[in-house]
Amino acid sequence: MTLSDRIQTVERRLSEACLRSGRRREDIELIAVTKYVGLQQTADVLRHGLVHLGENRWQDAEAKWNAISGSHAEGGDTKAASSEVKWHFIGSLQTNKVKDVIGKFTYIHSLDRSSLAQAIERRAQQLGIVVPCFIQVNVSGEESKHGLAPERLTEFARELADLPHIEPVGLMTMAPLGGEAEQSRPVFRGLRELRDELNAKAVLRQPVNGLSMGMSGDFEVAVEEGATWLRLGTILVGRNEQ
Ligand SMILES: *Cc1c(COP(=O)(O)O)cnc(C)c1O
Repeated sequence: MTLSDRIQTVERRLSEACLRSGRRREDIELIAVTKYVGLQQTADVLRHGLVHLGENRWQDAEAKWNAISGSHAEGGDTKAASSEVKWHFIGSLQTNKVKDVIGKFTYIHSLDRSSLAQAIERRAQQLGIVVPCFIQVNVSGEESKHGLAPERLTEFARELADLPHIEPVGLMTMAPLGGEAEQSRPVFRGLRELRDELNAKAVLRQPVNGLSMGMSGDFEVAVEEGATWLRLGTILVGRNEQ
């Protein structure tokens, strides 16, 4: 399948999920997760009009970031498209990588602990920027998963309210991998309920709307449960043989 075919397929399934759940397509953003592909395919994603790129490791993203968004990025249509590009850091973020990532990635989806929040706050302050962040919550409770335990969310949100260079924009979660799409539903619903509770308690400086949830195997269920950001790799961008 070509990239255009994949985009069309995703858009069709997305529209159907919107219809089923009474949601509007324009309230849902697509993040093209490019971690499985190289620079040429990433540039191709941009040429097809997608502007949100997701990567989960700085080591894998660095060359692509430099070529597309670095100060020495080459000309041509990659560069033309690049002013619009928004990079999303979706993988777990080690504190010692904060200096590489903050300032280059617009959104952080994996804010899950105080030490990381402090490191982002310090770096963002140095750069004079405010970083939109999703709080990653381990709704499924699997031990292998990163993310904050749900019962710690309120306390963590309170800490963030004191960090002016971090702008919480929503919650993020990963559903258990490899199962049926329907198995993700309680996890996605749980994340939506946590967001609503957080807003009801008015702990953050402002209410948040964002729900970063849904991947290739379960994005329609995520839409039905209120996702505002889908992180799509395999089904949208494709995947090179390793
Ligand atoms: C890889 C990855 C994705 C995309 O996975 P696909 O199943 O290929 O769509 C989404 N979110 C995170 C955090 C990832 O690491």
